[in-house]
Amino acid sequence: PLPVVAVVGRPNVGKSTLVNRILGRREAVVEDVPGVTRDRVAYDADWSGRRFTLVDTGGWAIDATGIHLRVAEQAEVAVDLADVVMFVVDAQVGATDDDEAVVKLLRRSGKPVVLVANKVDDQRTEADAAALWNLGLGQPWPVSALHGRGSGDVLDAVLDVL
Ligand code: GDP
Ligand code: MG
Repeated sequence: PLPVVAVVGRPNVGKSTLVNRILGRREAVVEDVPGVTRDRVAYDADWSGRRFTLVDTGGWAIDATGIHLRVAEQAEVAVDLADVVMFVVDAQVGATDDDEAVVKLLRRSGKPVVLVANKVDDQRTEADAAALWNLGLGQPWPVSALHGRGSGDVLDAVLDVL
């Protein structure tokens, strides 16, 4: 079986956009409305000749109830199945309480985490990415999933721990 890379994070941080960027095609559903990806969705991906399974997940709200709870549970399943987790944070917004709660869950999982500081669309936003060192997950990789900026570097970092 191929190694599994799971993409997790709050709703609307750009997980599905990142998945599409990595796949090089538009398959994951991107929406301005949070919470479109309800279940975990697995895709065949490759980078630098290495194949892996890339798993998109729905938004991960910690105090979730109802359907949102089911979505959060699917994200936890994705982490359990993952060899590496890409944890996506919106660098323009900064770390929220929900992000901090996800960090705790990821720590408990013991899985290697690559921190994606997304929505770094230009040089100006790089400082916002650097602020995410505070999450204690090591280096935040500045990425613009929308424009492709930094996506190769973060994938190299993922393959390094695979
Ligand atoms: P998800 O809920 O985490 O899967 O987020 P989506 O991929 O559906 O994206 C949510 C919104 O953020 C959409 O409007 C995207 O176009 C936007 N978005 C995603 N990545 C970026 C980025 O790198 N820069 C900017 N400016 N917007 C982004
Ligand atoms: Mg999504």
